[in-house]
Amino acid sequence: MPLRHNQSVYPEPVERLIDEFTRLPGIGRRSAERMAFHVLKATEEEAMRLSQAVADVKQKVRCCSICFNLTDVEPCAICTSPQRDPSKVLVVEQARDLISLEQTGVYKGVYHVLTGRIDPLGGVEPGDLTIARLFDRLENPEHNSGGVKIQEVILGLNPDLEGDTTGLYLADELAKRGVGVTRLARGLPAGSHLEFASKAVLADAIEGRQAMKLDDV
Ligand SMILES: [Zn+2]
Repeated sequence: MPLRHNQSVYPEPVERLIDEFTRLPGIGRRSAERMAFHVLKATEEEAMRLSQAVADVKQKVRCCSICFNLTDVEPCAICTSPQRDPSKVLVVEQARDLISLEQTGVYKGVYHVLTGRIDPLGGVEPGDLTIARLFDRLENPEHNSGGVKIQEVILGLNPDLEGDTTGLYLADELAKRGVGVTRLARGLPAGSHLEFASKAVLADAIEGRQAMKLDDV
């Protein structure tokens, strides 16, 4: 008898696992099936390690209360490191950008993660991001990492329309607050994304950062 449409050939729990895997980015049905079979073949201990890792990410990882980096300690290890200079704050759109920049090993200041970028057409306003918390760190040094006054804000936004819109807004607001503003050197091709740039390009962009003028965005 032919299978009815929608009727799975897998036991229900396996089908449910395949279903969950297909929700992952870039995973189609075939890959999800292979992953589910991998779990089926794994020892119980291996499979539980996977399930525990997923649970831990949701239960233990939070945003740092100072810089909004992802962390399992509060404040994050970058904000509390004695090797870092908290008078320099590099502003990025998302934690993935921070990780790409950290991998260069060049930057020794701290960060501020905006958790997005200004996108008026997409309905994202400055108030939807962590911008007010950045200004708070600036105006109240005791709220900055290490209680140190911020001397330089480096804009590390993606070189595309929304990144430029966000950069222009921040440069304007930061200038009003009297802090030095620089931005990463324009070694990154327009429309590219920080998180996919090579370490060498990012290292050059950090070291060659330039003073931000309001008319050059
Ligand atoms: Zn932090």
